[in-house]
Amino acid sequence: MTHMHVAGSIHADATSPAPHWLTKPGDVNALAEGLWSSGVSRRSDGEIEIAGLSVEEIARQIGTPAYVIDEADFRARAREWKAAFAGWEVYYAGKSFLCTGVARWVAEEGLNLDVCSAGELTVALRADVDPARIGLHGNNKSEAELRMALEVGVGRIIVDSSDEISRLERLGAELGTVAQVLIRVTTGVEAHTHEYIATAHEDQKFGFSINGGAALVAMVRTHHSPYLDLRGIHSHIGSQIFDTNGFEVAARRTLKLFAQFKEATGLELAELDLGGGFGIAYTKADTPATAGELASGLLEIVLHECRGFGLAVPRVSIEPGRSISGPPGTALYRVGTVKAVEIGGGLSRRYISVDGGMSDNIRPALYAAEYSATLANRTSDAPPVLSRVVGLHCEGGDILVRDEFLPSDVRPGDLIAVPAAGAYSRSMASNYNHTPRPPVVAVLDGRLTTLLRRETLDDLLALDAGA
Ligand SMILES: *Cc1c(COP(=O)(O)O)cnc(C)c1O
Repeated sequence: MTHMHVAGSIHADATSPAPHWLTKPGDVNALAEGLWSSGVSRRSDGEIEIAGLSVEEIARQIGTPAYVIDEADFRARAREWKAAFAGWEVYYAGKSFLCTGVARWVAEEGLNLDVCSAGELTVALRADVDPARIGLHGNNKSEAELRMALEVGVGRIIVDSSDEISRLERLGAELGTVAQVLIRVTTGVEAHTHEYIATAHEDQKFGFSINGGAALVAMVRTHHSPYLDLRGIHSHIGSQIFDTNGFEVAARRTLKLFAQFKEATGLELAELDLGGGFGIAYTKADTPATAGELASGLLEIVLHECRGFGLAVPRVSIEPGRSISGPPGTALYRVGTVKAVEIGGGLSRRYISVDGGMSDNIRPALYAAEYSATLANRTSDAPPVLSRVVGLHCEGGDILVRDEFLPSDVRPGDLIAVPAAGAYSRSMASNYNHTPRPPVVAVLDGRLTTLLRRETLDDLLALDAGA
C-alpha cells in the first residue's frame, strides 16, 4: 500500500504558492511529455482528442465527469510489460482498475490476472479469464471467497496468515482440493517513489515477516499439509517505485528464505513473485524507469542472488497494476466555477471547481498524490496562472490537482483533462454526497465503447430500503 509523505503539502505556503518541482510552462497549451497516453494530442483547432475522438464529442456522448481509456495504449503497455519480462509471468493487478472489458484485454494480451476479492474474481470469471491464470490476494479472505477460488480452480492463492492456512486445510478436506499457494512475506523493505526504507518497516498488516521466523514456520507448515501445495513465496514492497533498489534488498531477503527452506526440507521452491508497484508519471517531476530498464535490472538481481545462495533460478513473476492501467486513462471534467481566494501575503490562489472530485479520485486526499491538468476544449493565449482544481464535495480536502499552471481565462463550461488517471481512481470511487460514480469508456480508432456506465440516482436509491 502507498504511504506518501503528507507533511507540508496540505497547507499552502503563502510566500511561494508553486511547489518547487512545478515551473511555469513556456507554452501552457503544450501537452507535457511523458504524462499523456499515446493517443492524446491537440488538434489544429486547439481541442484535445483521445484516440481520434475530440473531448467535446466524448462529453457529448457520455457527459462529464468521465474516465476515458485509450484502448490501444492500454494494450500496448500490457504487451510492453509482457515482452520486457519475457520468460517471467506478468500478473496484471486488477485492483488498479478492473471491469469485464479490461479483464478481457489483459487476457487477450497474454497476461495473467491478480484479484483480491470475490468481486474482482467474479469480474474475471465473467470475462472468461482462465482461472488457472488468476491469483487471489487478500489479508482477510473469507471462507466463501476461498471456497469460490478452490471450486473454480484459481491458479494460485497468496496466503497471508496462519488462520488462512487453517481455513484452506478445512476447505481442502471438505472439497477434496489441494490449493496452489504462495506465502506472502514481509521483507522489511518499504519502497515508494524515489526512496526505500530497508530497516524495520514490518509494522503493517500484510503477510508473514521474515525477521523472527514467522515466514519460514508458515512455509514448513504449508509444505507438510496435504491440502496445500507450496509453490513459492511472494513479496510486494510498495507502490509508485521508480527504481530497482528496494527490489534488490527484497530479492536478497526472499531468496535467502528459499535457501533456509532448502536447508530445512531439502527442497527448492519453484516460484518467486516480486509484486508490483512500478511507478508512473503523474507530473513532470516524475521520472519512472521503463519496463525494459526494470526488467533487465530485476533479472540481474535475481540471477545474482540465486548464484550467491546456490539456488536454481525459480519461475519469477511480477504484478504491475498502475504502470499498465494508469497512463492510458484520462479524466474529463467540466468547469463549474472559478474564483480567486486570498491566501495572505497579498497572494491569491485560483480555485477551479469541476463536476467531479474526491468521489471519483480519492488519491490526492488520501495520499497527497499530485496530478497534472490541462485546458482540454481549446487553447488559450492568456497567461498561465497557478491554479488548484477542486471537486464539488463538502470537504476542504476535496482536491483533484493541487497545483497546476492553467490559462488565466479558464471559465465555466471549459473542459479540464487530467492525465494518468486510469489507476486507483474509478476503482476507489465512492458515492460521497450521494454522487453517482462516473462512467469508464474505451476509445479506439475514434470509436467509443462504454465499459462501465455512469451510475444514476436511481442506482443509488435502489439501495435505499426506504424504511
Ligand atoms: C497493489 C498491489 C499491486 C499493484 O501495485 P501497482 O502500484 O498498481 O503496480 C501488486 N501486488 C500487490 C500484492 C498489491 O497489493
